[in-house]
Amino acid sequence: MSLFESPLYKDSLKLLEDAGSVMGLDPNILERLKYPKRALQVAVPIRLDDGTVKTFQGYRVQHNMTLGPGKGGIRFHPKVDLSETAALAMLMTFKCALVGLPLGGAKGGICVDPNELSRQELQSLTRRYTTEINMIVGPSIDIPAPDIGTDGQTMAWFMDTYSQLKGYTVPGVVTGKPITIGGSLGRAEATGKGVAYCVNFAAEKLGMKVGKGMTVAIHGFGKVGIPAAQDLRDQGCTIVAVSDVSGAIYSKDGIDVDKAVEWVNQRKFLKDLPGVELISNEDLLALDVDVLIPAAIDGVLTKKNADNVKAKIIAEGANGPLTKDAIDIITAKGSFLIPDILCNAGGVIVSYFEWVQGLQNFFWGLDEINAKLHSILKDAFDNVYECSLEYKVDMKKAAFIRAFRRLERAMRLRGLFPS
Ligand code: GLU
Repeated sequence: MSLFESPLYKDSLKLLEDAGSVMGLDPNILERLKYPKRALQVAVPIRLDDGTVKTFQGYRVQHNMTLGPGKGGIRFHPKVDLSETAALAMLMTFKCALVGLPLGGAKGGICVDPNELSRQELQSLTRRYTTEINMIVGPSIDIPAPDIGTDGQTMAWFMDTYSQLKGYTVPGVVTGKPITIGGSLGRAEATGKGVAYCVNFAAEKLGMKVGKGMTVAIHGFGKVGIPAAQDLRDQGCTIVAVSDVSGAIYSKDGIDVDKAVEWVNQRKFLKDLPGVELISNEDLLALDVDVLIPAAIDGVLTKKNADNVKAKIIAEGANGPLTKDAIDIITAKGSFLIPDILCNAGGVIVSYFEWVQGLQNFFWGLDEINAKLHSILKDAFDNVYECSLEYKVDMKKAAFIRAFRRLERAMRLRGLFPS
């Protein structure tokens, strides 16, 4: 697969060019941002439980490191390829720039369905992948984190393997680690919490009240969707529908979020939860709700189904859940979009806190972490909102423009080597 082939890369380039032309981005900078700085493809052979050997394709892409070391998750998913990983790395560059972190953008992944592997096989896969990309990661080079299909356990195996290769413990090589081995309080729920914060900021701008009477539908009930649901439910909102790959469950009076969480934590499908009304994922996306949170994967709302969306606020919990066509359609209809690089930045913000705490060997309390997260996201949201008014553009373009302003300044100051 060539670099430009995936729909997400093509869309990201279009967004880059559009926002770049609105703000008058230096064409030399724009050209550089179209390509990743470095991309590594690796073969990851492992011995399966039945004794056979299977080889998987893995990637680590570093898009831009002007602002600091690369940062971005590792995805285990059957859709992973070089082009999609490169697009996600590019989005990480813009995300980190937008929220003011001293970090660049990177992403990694393996083309695999993790549900088809045993725990032992997953451990072998993670350890061999770490070994294969070891030469381009490190606490001051590139710091991976969890993404779709990976979690704290994956990060623990990654950190252990990297540390074994070095001969000493290197907690700063990954974030999203379990607390016992240097993880940060609040990291696991940070992305979902950030989504909930952003819904509050958006509602305030629109004169809507978050709480009793506000209805929410969440596409993707996982690492992002669950904490977002819990947070908004705790604020009094009615979570009318949530979904996973098996389908969606709906209740006009509100899903029992805790019951659904307990169910999926036992690795069971939502469709099998007793006593619920089932609808399709497409039906969920078209529900007449105040807030729709696509928190599963990219390319969920496209030109084919975006016109069905009725939600007033659409909060992009996943990376790229709306294609560029879908964004144009829903913003023309008057819905308010909270773009992914802002909406789901809570994860990488608390990853940054974890990295800093690890480097200092000094750990902070949860209240301090959440207060800092809130303040960074609030500033970023206000900046993007003001930018959207200044340039009369939707929030997606405005977020890109804000990110480019910071990147452009930094890239100019550092200059081009050799000059
Ligand atoms: N995978 C997450 C993202 O897409 C988090 C990345 C990180 O924490 O480095 O933002």
